[in-house]
Amino acid sequence: MSFFEWITIFILTFCIMEFNAWFLHKYVMHGFLWVLHKDHHQPKDRWWQLNDFFALFFAIPSFLLILSNHLYDKPLNAAIGFGIMAYGAAYFFVHEVMIHRRLKFIKASTNWYSEAVNAAHKVHHSVKGKHHAENFGMLIVSMKYFKNARKKHNGLRSRKAKT
Ligand SMILES: [Zn+2]
Ligand SMILES: [Zn+2]
Repeated sequence: MSFFEWITIFILTFCIMEFNAWFLHKYVMHGFLWVLHKDHHQPKDRWWQLNDFFALFFAIPSFLLILSNHLYDKPLNAAIGFGIMAYGAAYFFVHEVMIHRRLKFIKASTNWYSEAVNAAHKVHHSVKGKHHAENFGMLIVSMKYFKNARKKHNGLRSRKAKT
């Protein structure tokens, strides 16, 4: 397997994972595993959430795929495994750190990307129950949020330029 093929599979996996995460969130977390996701929409007075269990949905397959490459020399599996791992890390960073600020090792970001995903996810959380929520994606959200965030930023910039 060439390096180019490896990287292509890695990036493809990363992209497909956004769709998988959307599917998992919409049909599993807001479906038969709502019992684990519920405390993310209705927070309890503690730092950890049952919802954190879903990290295993990324971690276990990724670990097994990477391990299988070490044991049986399967570079394709490793490319997929690292793609899932990278997506899991990006998801963690965007969802736990940037949006919910459960860890505060970076300043609250104010760039248009983080504002767009933040706004979309806040709309998701405005519904406390299992049904009728929207915006199940995480790294990619509806264009309207990106457009709004960009507009806001361009507005800020031109106001700054005038003063
Ligand atoms: Zn949800
Ligand atoms: Zn959330």
